[in-house]
Formats: sequence, structure tokens, C-alpha cells
Amino acid sequence: MQVQTMHFKARAGSKLADERLQQNLTKLSTKFVSARASAITAIDFEATRAALKERRDRAIENLDVWLETFEREATRRGATVLYAESTQDAARLVADIARKHVVKKVIKTKSMVSEEMQLNRVLGEMGVQSIETDLGEYILQINDNEPPSHIIAPVVHKDKEQIADLFAKTHGKPRLTEIPDMTREARQVLRPHFMSADMGVTGGNFVIAETGSVAVVTNEGNEGMCTVMPRVHVAVTGIEKVLPTLEDLATAMRLLPRSATGQTMSNYFSLLTGPRGEGELDGPEHMYFVLVDGGRTGLVGGEFQEMLRCIRCGACMNHCPVYQKIGGHAYGWVYPGPMGSVLTPAYVGIDRALDLPQAATLCGECNSVCPVGIPLSDLLRKLREKQVERRLRPRNERVALAVWGFLALHPDWYALFTKLSVRVLERMGGSKKAISRLPLGGGWTNTRDIPAPVGRTFRELYKAHRSHIG
Ligand code: SF4
Repeated sequence: MQVQTMHFKARAGSKLADERLQQNLTKLSTKFVSARASAITAIDFEATRAALKERRDRAIENLDVWLETFEREATRRGATVLYAESTQDAARLVADIARKHVVKKVIKTKSMVSEEMQLNRVLGEMGVQSIETDLGEYILQINDNEPPSHIIAPVVHKDKEQIADLFAKTHGKPRLTEIPDMTREARQVLRPHFMSADMGVTGGNFVIAETGSVAVVTNEGNEGMCTVMPRVHVAVTGIEKVLPTLEDLATAMRLLPRSATGQTMSNYFSLLTGPRGEGELDGPEHMYFVLVDGGRTGLVGGEFQEMLRCIRCGACMNHCPVYQKIGGHAYGWVYPGPMGSVLTPAYVGIDRALDLPQAATLCGECNSVCPVGIPLSDLLRKLREKQVERRLRPRNERVALAVWGFLALHPDWYALFTKLSVRVLERMGGSKKAISRLPLGGGWTNTRDIPAPVGRTFRELYKAHRSHIG
């Protein structure tokens, strides 16, 4: 996926004006938010979250040890483990595997890391057909390779009618409008691809060090078809996804589906270890792991290390008031919402993602729902500080912050400034008692009026009230 993060403001503006998108995005609050709220009541959320946070920290603090353990165990069970420093290297490794095994067709499960790698494009350029088999990803692929807008619900920005039109146009069949019928039609299209593919590429929700396994979570069962049918299975995932033990995985699975879709358990869950063994009836002949760095080690040991705990559940974006209004495409890269606004600057460069740390109200809702306790709003604030320190923010913003800093350190000047300001703002409000145009505040007043203050500061009102009751 091409980096478009520098166009955030323009993209967000057009998404806000898209009435159909606004309607489609209401699914986030009506479905995901309420489903999660009811799913977590069955467990002690705070205690389970503390346990998972501790387990993820243990893995990340000794990442090298657990990756070596994973490599040893996976290799012992017949798989090949490869490491890629960059996402481009990772795509090249997968292309080399495809070449080595004379692969003509690849079937894929949903994998955000493969989006980072632009894997479909790379495979396509070498003449290998790559078919997305997750229903949402399949819809996007037949819609001119549109990028996903959400990490667990890639097509959440579209409605049933839009997909019905797309299916009728692409499949050349009568237009269906009932979801089970449309799903059946997609299955009929995908089935021959499952049967004829040479290689399956999956993501990996986690890799387990003690057994050398990969855990893949889906709701459609396509991960089973992608890993059992073809001759070759390649699992691509980030190096931070390692968990030391199966017990760690059990803790993670208590929170991942609940946080993501509000399910107590996903419909399908595969734990895959090594290629097909002697006497086994199914499974691939060859199994590879491509473990991708792609900027992750840059976070280890630094002030953003906590971000590596992320298990890609999507809860932070489902609950984010900014994401709920603009959707995922506005963010301009693979990871949207609060987690993306922290990860994207780390992966593509803080100067290429200037507006993302600002794309948050800092309301803290993301912190409270994150199943691994990542303090997202604190990390976003740190990124803002870094932008100011590196003088990456616009000049008027830097001047305004400098003035604010001075006033905050000088209470007498602060009192004088606020005293004058509230009087000026009261006058600006006029008889309407609302301000429609505010110099330097166009971002607010372009779409709403600001109520005018009463003309006296809080301190003045407090003093008057005290003397009144005294
Ligand atoms: S930051 Fe937390 S809430 Fe957001 S996707 Fe990652 S684990 Fe889920």
C-alpha cells in the first residue's frame, strides 16, 4: 500500500462530506462497540488485561531469545524460518519462495503485514496470480485493488448495496441482495482457486516459541483452505508477534476475539506446526515463516516500545470518535485509528505523517479498551512533543504554543490575557452570543459556531460569588 499519510487533511475532509460513508461507519458503534461491551462482561477484563500485558512485555523484553527459540523449534519440526529487515526484503523472500517452487497461483488470508509488503503487487509483477480469500479482502481486490480501511473489518466502509453492484458487475450474474446468497456466490468463485493454488500465504496472529507454531484466527475458515490445500504454506508476520508459550496464547485468545468483534471465540482458529508429516493425510509439503522487522526493532528499548504489545484487535479504532467519522482510508497507510497514528510515524517517518498524531481528541477511550493496556493517548502526546521539538509543526502553531507556554509560567500575565480575551470574545459573539469566525481558529468555526463567553473570567466569577456568599 502506497504511503499517502501526507494528504490526511484533504482525505479526511472528503470522507466527512461523503454521506454514504458516514452512514456505513455507524456500524462501528452499533455493532462492534456494543458487542465488545457485552463480551467482556463474561471475564474479569482488568485482571485478564493485566495478565496479557505482562505476558506480551515478557516476550518483547527478550524478543531475541524468543525469536531464536521459535526458529529452533519451527526448524526442528521441518519449517524454514526467514527474517526480513524491511518490508521490501520480505516481499522479495516470498517471491523467491514462489520462484523456487514454480508457483503460478497464490491464495491468501487477510494479513496487514502483507499490505505493508505490497505483496500482491510484487507477485503480480512476476506473473503470479494472488487471490484474496477473506471475503472482505476479496471484495476489495475485485474493486480495483482498493486498500482495506480497517484491520479486522477491511470493507466496513461499504454497504451491502455497493457490494451487490460490484458482485453483479464482476461475476456477470444476476444481482443478489441477500447476504447468504452473496456469500455463496463468492464461495463458488473462490472454490476453484483453493483447489488449484500452488501456494497459500497467511498472516500470523501469533507465533509460539515453545512449539514453533503459528496461530491464525479467522471467521470464515479460509485459513484452513489456504494452509491445507496448496503444496507450499508461507506465514508472514511481524517479529513482535512471538509469544513464549501456549499458555500465553490461551490468555491472548481470551481477549483478542472479544476486543475485536465481541465474540467469545472466533469461528475458526488454526494452530499450525510444521509441514505435512509422514503418514499425515493433509498439510503442505513445505512450510516457511517470513518474520518481518519493517521498523519494529526501532521501537525496542525506546519510549514507544509499549506499542509492540499491540495484538491488532482494532478496538481502539472502533471506539475512536475521529476514526468513527473519517474511516480508515483518510489515514493514508496500512494502520488507521489511534494505533496507526502511533505506528505509522514510527514505520514511515514522523515527517511523512505530520497530521496523524493530531488526529485524536485524546479522550482516552482507546486506552480504556485496549486489551494490552497501551497508553495510546500518552504516546500520541509524545509524538506531538517530538514534532514541536523538531520544529515540524506550522509556524503559527509553534508561535501560539510558545505564547501559551509563557503565559502558563507567568500567572499575572495569564490573568491579564484571559481577562482581555473573554471581553473581546464576548463582543465578537454579539447578540447571537456565538462566534462564527475566529482568527486562527478556522478549523473549528468552519463547521460550527463557538458559544461566546460571558465576558468575565472564571476567577472573576469565583471571586464575585465568594464575596456574595461571604
Ligand atoms: S492498540 Fe490496543 S486496541 Fe488498538 S489494535 Fe492494538 S491491541 Fe487493539
